[in-house]
Amino acid sequence: MSRILVIADHFEGTLTAATAKAVAGAREIAHEALDVLVLAADGAAIAGEAARLAGVDRVTHLDRAENAHPIAAIAAPQIVAAVTQGHYSHVLAPNTSFGKDMMPRVAALLGVEMVTDLSAVLDTHRFQRPIYAGNALTTVETPPDETLVATVRTASFKPVAADAQADVAARQLDDDIELPTHSRFVGIENHATDRPDLATAKRVVSGGRGVGSAANFDIIREFADSIGAAVGASRAAVDAGYVPNDMQVGQTGKIIAPELYICFGISGAIQHLAGIKDAGTIVAVNADPDAPIFEIADIGLVGDLFEIIPALQSALGASS
Ligand SMILES: Cc1cc2nc3c(=O)[nH]c(=O)nc-3n(C[C@H](O)[C@H](O)[C@H](O)COP(=O)(O)OP(=O)(O)OC[C@H]3O[C@@H](n4cnc5c(N)ncnc54)[C@H](O)[C@@H]3O)c2cc1C
Repeated sequence: MSRILVIADHFEGTLTAATAKAVAGAREIAHEALDVLVLAADGAAIAGEAARLAGVDRVTHLDRAENAHPIAAIAAPQIVAAVTQGHYSHVLAPNTSFGKDMMPRVAALLGVEMVTDLSAVLDTHRFQRPIYAGNALTTVETPPDETLVATVRTASFKPVAADAQADVAARQLDDDIELPTHSRFVGIENHATDRPDLATAKRVVSGGRGVGSAANFDIIREFADSIGAAVGASRAAVDAGYVPNDMQVGQTGKIIAPELYICFGISGAIQHLAGIKDAGTIVAVNADPDAPIFEIADIGLVGDLFEIIPALQSALGASS
């Protein structure tokens, strides 16, 4: 039977929703143990949050000053030590920037290949993952005698409930683990916003090249604010300098699964669609009736976004 270790993704002292989704993926693998590992400077509170996730048996927090920031070069040897000492057969992390940075190093140190973007579990060593920008699914099979290292595609799993209470333990690793000193934390730059987080928002409003300019993008932001949505963009809008690149949705941006996705002036290139494959209802507004976005949209409006947005806003205002 499998022994699974999920590496917790956390930010500013709080567990991210992505961890609950990775646990959801892990739960689908038949197992005798499903544990969570928190690496932090002081991980007790984060471990407490992880312990509430349904299906988790045990949470361990590994507190060291070096773990104050998630630096893959420093965390990976500690994860490998925890995996070896705990006899884990599977090591999973969400496919966030954290997991994508961390898990290749873990796999390399363990001397195994890794599975990225695991989107469905077929059995303990057979999984599905998307290929060709999400246009096809492939089945991957991993050797049962090797530790499986994988990132879990968070858009494919609903977060487990936070209504349980697993055991929490602080842990010391053997002192002889050497941590590299060549990498250090310098700083983090992110765009502070009061809007919902694009990666986890239930509603997302996006704009594309059709918005026309950085100044015009205000109409997208205002509409998003009026319905409590996060704001996203196509790569063309990012490349044109309308918005920063952390707003990009798609294959090389954020993969999201909101309940409602409304996009204005986005043509529907496959690389963009790869980011919204798991969205609930997709509403597209485009001036071109032949735009490919209409092939996948649940609701399509053909017209000029600068006329349709004010009309939508007044209709929403009238109905509220
Ligand atoms: C390796 C690779 C990775 C990529 N990754 C991504 C990715 O992660 N995300 C991503 O988005 N793209 C990605 N792309 C780029 C992708 O191929 C497209 O070029 C991009 O998505 C197009 O963006 P767009 O739809 O905003 O622009 P366009 O394709 O130029 O479409 C603009 C649309 O706006 C409409 N329009 C114009 N004016 C108006 C108006 N006034 N009202 C209403 N509609 C209007 C037009 O009819 C048109 O359909 C990637 C490409 C490659 C090669």
